[in-house]
Amino acid sequence: MAVGRYAPSPTGDLHLGNLRTAVVAWLLARHSGSRFLMRVEDLDPASRSGRFVDSQLDDLAALGLDWDGVVMFQSERIDAYRAAIDQLIESDLTFRCYCSRREIRQATQAAHDVGLAPRYPGTCHNLSEADHEARHLSGRPAALRFRGRGRVISLSDRIAGRYEGVVDDLVLRRNDGTPAYNIAVVVDDADQGVEEVTRGDDLLAATPAQLAVCEALDLRPPSYAHVPLVLGPGGERLAKRDGAVTLAELAARGVGAATVLSLIGHSLGLCALGESVDLLELLNRFDPAETAWTSWTVDEAQIA
Ligand code: GLU
Repeated sequence: MAVGRYAPSPTGDLHLGNLRTAVVAWLLARHSGSRFLMRVEDLDPASRSGRFVDSQLDDLAALGLDWDGVVMFQSERIDAYRAAIDQLIESDLTFRCYCSRREIRQATQAAHDVGLAPRYPGTCHNLSEADHEARHLSGRPAALRFRGRGRVISLSDRIAGRYEGVVDDLVLRRNDGTPAYNIAVVVDDADQGVEEVTRGDDLLAATPAQLAVCEALDLRPPSYAHVPLVLGPGGERLAKRDGAVTLAELAARGVGAATVLSLIGHSLGLCALGESVDLLELLNRFDPAETAWTSWTVDEAQIA
């Protein structure tokens, strides 16, 4: 049986964009009769308190989502990620990097300015042992990055279509020693037998590198469905400042989960505005081949 999944990061309550992506992931999986797995991506320090895990899962259940088996927590799988990192070190596909976020941002400002996905600028690509020693002595801890070697990988995304991108030198291990999302996601999707990854299209640019990591570890690559982001009334990516964007905030204004599900269904062309529908009814109407995968600009009136 095929396998799909949704993998939230519990750094806060899910907003309309996350909720819509989760609904799409569930619809795609259930439409094809696949198992649907839930994975909590709690490696990031901002998510380690566990504070938002229950509220995120409750919100997904409130929209009608269900999932198979137990929820997987990345924080419990550190050893599997370490083993994969060791394998990449062994294959000479990593390098130590001492750059701070700020230094990388400065070096990639030009790309930011023209709206391109910034790539690692290569600063620590070819450091000598003496360079490493000097940085080590200055007290800078090293992160470990994947050596992308400028390869270009293309993929065929269910929603975004053909996409081609350079393999970025992704962080595999943060400078505090914690394995990073980019290794965890590859190892987990392979271990869970995930065949289709559904997630927000802000991660499309990282996908060629995740595929390269997958290949280097000799794992079977999944296929992808990158869902367009939800935009706020100003046309920018939906954010807290846009008003009530989580189920709790919307509920406080009298907009319940059923209304939110209907809004999401409408944004996917599956129901009329204001129509009362449950998730199973949306599934009955859902046909991936017929869906217009446009981004959804939330109306001021819907969240104000
Ligand atoms: N945890 C990521 C997020 O919440 C999604 C990562 C993924 O699905 O690969 O944006």
